Amino acid sequence: MLNDALYFKLFASCIPVKGSVECLIYDTDRGLYHVIDPLLFEIINENKKNVLSIGELKKMFLNQYDRGIDAYFQFFVDEEIGFFTDNPQFFPEINMSWHSPLRIQNAVIEVDESSPYDLLDVLRQLEGLNCQFIQLRFLSFTHIEELKKILDNFDSSCIKGFEVFIPYYKDVSSTQIIDFTSTCKRIARLHIFEAPEQEDLSKYYDQSSTRGFFIPQKITCSTHDVVSAENFFLSLDTFLESQQHNIGLNRKVSIDRNGFIKNYLSHETFHGNVCSESIKDVISTSSFQKCWFLHNDIILVCKDCQYRYMCVDNTEIIKSEGGYRKNKQCSFNPYTNKW
Ligand code: SF4
Repeated sequence: MLNDALYFKLFASCIPVKGSVECLIYDTDRGLYHVIDPLLFEIINENKKNVLSIGELKKMFLNQYDRGIDAYFQFFVDEEIGFFTDNPQFFPEINMSWHSPLRIQNAVIEVDESSPYDLLDVLRQLEGLNCQFIQLRFLSFTHIEELKKILDNFDSSCIKGFEVFIPYYKDVSSTQIIDFTSTCKRIARLHIFEAPEQEDLSKYYDQSSTRGFFIPQKITCSTHDVVSAENFFLSLDTFLESQQHNIGLNRKVSIDRNGFIKNYLSHETFHGNVCSESIKDVISTSSFQKCWFLHNDIILVCKDCQYRYMCVDNTEIIKSEGGYRKNKQCSFNPYTNKW
């Protein structure tokens, strides 16, 4: 039995989140989550709001759950997501504000043989906006040498990394990919899509985090991201960002193969075209930035989902009579807790 005079506290970075059916504790330091019973969520929440000793908390629930409270609090301490203290006032809650100095964090660019814009110019514009990560999707034949020529321009750039997709071609070899990705300073991942066989080349790299992959999937202009638990992203920074922002769309820009500037490639709405407007001007408009602030707490269905602060779904958001909703609902139903 626990010492009822003590107080139980979750570590400030371990945050309880209520869903319609299931509740979680996000461990934002480790990027993990624990499923908890909704009743336990209520107990933890009450404990957070009122700073009650374990004994006071048990009394508040009329001593009906004493054994459960003891067992769960001990379990949380064993799992290193909480601790006992007699000085709870020394452990304040986390400051929930979030700020980024970056105007654009991520960009996705789609290009094919008939794209009407100058790719290098678009990349230079993004560099000028301090964009950190760029995904390049080449939909038509692109030789590794051609890619190298483009990326060599950004060897000493503020762009931290490129993730690149190019279609498979007959002469492309593992050796070429490993040579290229090991020497190109800014490439993070290179995927050769529509390959005859899947192969992860990770085993050929030493310390480098750069990776090359052959993947059998085909990437086209209508390839959409799929929401799944594997794609969730849990960190303290993302959690804080998600309180006021849509973490799938915030500070992101996409250029489709026709040069249209969008919040994301799959969106029907576009906000301009790189052939006639600068990316900087377009991303500065309130219409472009509107979806940055449509966070999951104000989107129908998502607002009741326990994954809402780690889900980076970038589906277009539309306003309907009942409020904001995704124009295509993901396959998770928070009301039945089923995918
Ligand atoms: S319901 Fe919304 S928040 Fe939940 S997984 Fe689907 S898209 Fe993400």
